[in-house]
Amino acid sequence: MILAKYLFTPGSQHRFRVIWFIRRNYSFLSDDVKSVRTVVSPDISKIRNIGIMAHIDAGKTTTTERMLFYSGYIRALGDVDDGDTVTDFMAQERERGITIQSAAVTFDWKNHRINLIDTPGHVDFTLEVERSLRVLDGAVAVFDASAGVEAQTLTVWRQAEKHHVPCIGFLNKMDKPMANLDLCIESIREKMQTTPILIQIPVGCGKNFSGIVDLLTKQKLIWATKSNEDDGRCYKVQSLDQSDEPALVQTAKEARSNLIEQVADLDDEFAELLLTDFSDNFDAVPSIKIKEALRRVTLARKGVPILCGSSLKNKGVQPLLDAIIAYLPNPNERHHDIIQWYKDDLCALAFKVIHDKQRGPLVFVRIYSGTLKAQTAVYNINRNNIERMSRLLVPFADQYVEIPSMTAGNIGLTVGLKQTITGDTIASSKASAAAALRRAQNKAETTGDRVKVILTGVEVPDPVFFCTIEPPSMAKQADLENALCCLQREDPSLKVRVDPDSGQTILCGMGELHIEIIHDRIRREYGIETHLGPLQVAYRETIVQKAKTTNTLDRTIGDRRHFVTVELTVGPIDDIGTSSKFQIKKELHNQLTPDLKGAVENGVHSSYLQGPLLGYPVQGVYTEIESLNLEPGTSPAMVSACVSRCVQKAMKAAGPQVLEPVMSLEVTVGEDYLSSVLGDLAQRRGTVRDIQSRHNNKVLLATVPLAEMMGYSTILRSLTSGTATFSLELDSYEAMNPQDQNILLKRVAGLL
Ligand code: GDP
Ligand code: MG
Repeated sequence: MILAKYLFTPGSQHRFRVIWFIRRNYSFLSDDVKSVRTVVSPDISKIRNIGIMAHIDAGKTTTTERMLFYSGYIRALGDVDDGDTVTDFMAQERERGITIQSAAVTFDWKNHRINLIDTPGHVDFTLEVERSLRVLDGAVAVFDASAGVEAQTLTVWRQAEKHHVPCIGFLNKMDKPMANLDLCIESIREKMQTTPILIQIPVGCGKNFSGIVDLLTKQKLIWATKSNEDDGRCYKVQSLDQSDEPALVQTAKEARSNLIEQVADLDDEFAELLLTDFSDNFDAVPSIKIKEALRRVTLARKGVPILCGSSLKNKGVQPLLDAIIAYLPNPNERHHDIIQWYKDDLCALAFKVIHDKQRGPLVFVRIYSGTLKAQTAVYNINRNNIERMSRLLVPFADQYVEIPSMTAGNIGLTVGLKQTITGDTIASSKASAAAALRRAQNKAETTGDRVKVILTGVEVPDPVFFCTIEPPSMAKQADLENALCCLQREDPSLKVRVDPDSGQTILCGMGELHIEIIHDRIRREYGIETHLGPLQVAYRETIVQKAKTTNTLDRTIGDRRHFVTVELTVGPIDDIGTSSKFQIKKELHNQLTPDLKGAVENGVHSSYLQGPLLGYPVQGVYTEIESLNLEPGTSPAMVSACVSRCVQKAMKAAGPQVLEPVMSLEVTVGEDYLSSVLGDLAQRRGTVRDIQSRHNNKVLLATVPLAEMMGYSTILRSLTSGTATFSLELDSYEAMNPQDQNILLKRVAGLL
């Protein structure tokens, strides 16, 4: 009613918002928009699955927004500074102005289907980046032309390199007074250790930046000076031959011969063409020949075509879209080894789960082979279950448009898959998955390769940080559980457990920001104000000696007497990294019923969950049951309790020891800052393993206890003026030395 009132009252100030709200939430109202689009699965050669990588603030969101606007998928330009862009759809992203989740957005450009997969721009989300890099076929690196290559771009770049993702570069913010083309090209060459190939030059600089010269076609592309005139939709194209700017013509000519020489250096076919047909006149090489060669060079990752523009001022974005089509691969041009096992059968990777208030869980999938059809059952290989999918959607900007089926190479959203989580592989049936496995095995027998029919998502490391989370009232507990359940399906690196003693819910995550974001999302998306306990490091415990103990339990409950005595030995396993073990002495083995064995095992394992010192999980310990005597009528639960007490007692006597997570740290830093990074590491109980040289940079390999790494990204940034990049992953659990352990124990006991 209220909506109707606003909607039909002319001049109502809420009218626009209501229409916007309805459009956004009820896509059936916008059939007019849908009908003008070709919502069919396009030919695979016309698909581009592209990621955008950039340092925070380089302009990724603004550029994406312009792309959606020029391709006709949004009708007005949003502005990141006002927080109303489409791709930064999670509320706290808008607030922080950073992009955390990889949302995929689809649009069409010149008869091609472009799926943009957003890669997060923060070091704490490298797992998300890795995941998106598996799904995409090519990437656009967006740089701030006044800053050159910045830390995060470099981190993502290195990951892209690992996955052999072909890239093009976009020097954004050419309108800034400090924008510097030459410095950027140099910094790309040096820091990224690749060959930048400039294919455009800017016209005007700073405030007077008005467009670009396309060096291939020798055309000048000029946008209206006032960017808001038509939001940059139209631009003038003029041949340089007719230009009356001799300086620009000369610069362009030189830049073009440079480009031609560079491409000839990297591509033999082009070099040959050049020498046979154009040896006396490079200038006459047709642009199509350069384009073809440049495509081969880019796909082979021998070089990176570089474009320039200013997204905010609406200049240069359309040529960037053209370049995505021209130089980045279609799905067939990328090698995903898994596909051959499936042949024409369906094989898809669930790479993202989001929860939609109306539609429930939506699973983003990338199809590698076969066809995915709406209203069919699919087989989830990882979960070994069959699920029914209802609808299939294409995420066009902020609308989801229904589609009956989708072929290989595409990215879509499925409705109805309730069990599927991020990282799962989907096939059409159990039989087709089995057939794929057989094909892979046959191949493996001849080649000795590893058998692999699952599209391995990203290996999720053990979470290293945890904290308690409490609902505002007990009434909200169920809501909180539901929220956590949804969040876990979206993000497999989040683990949730319940503390057996206190009954408190514990969040376990990969880093400080990770837990903070989860906390935020629970508040915003699920409307629950939760309280987080202090962030703690996930320690483990072990023992260093052998100990033998007995324990007796004698308890009468009602008229039933429970009496049991157990004798057991605990001791350390050589490798403290292995999980704790349990055995029953041989002679005793045959005397115990299966029920009793189960009860004993439960008892042992329950005491492994909480170590004797601080209550952390126990690893690297074995327990051997020496003897077990009990009165008839004693319940298995009492046997478990008695065994558990006994193991606890024994471990206390066996030199308990705290193990702490030690991380392997890799810092890439310029020589100038190396000593301050090293000095800082020494204060963090860090051990330097190696220092390697990579051109002008030093790569520092070290191990550092996680407990010393709180807030490291901020500290490293200030130590190195933001020039260093680092990655941190769990290396091993190691024994703390006695002093450090004492300090920790005292602190936990509240004595420090
Ligand atoms: P992201 O963090 O990479 O997504 O970057 P955003 O798109 O959020 O942009 C960061 C800031 O840079 C915002 O304040 C934008 O208005 C600004 N910005 C983006 N593109 C340009 C540009 O071409 N020129 C200038 N001067 N500023 C820009
Ligand atoms: Mg952004």
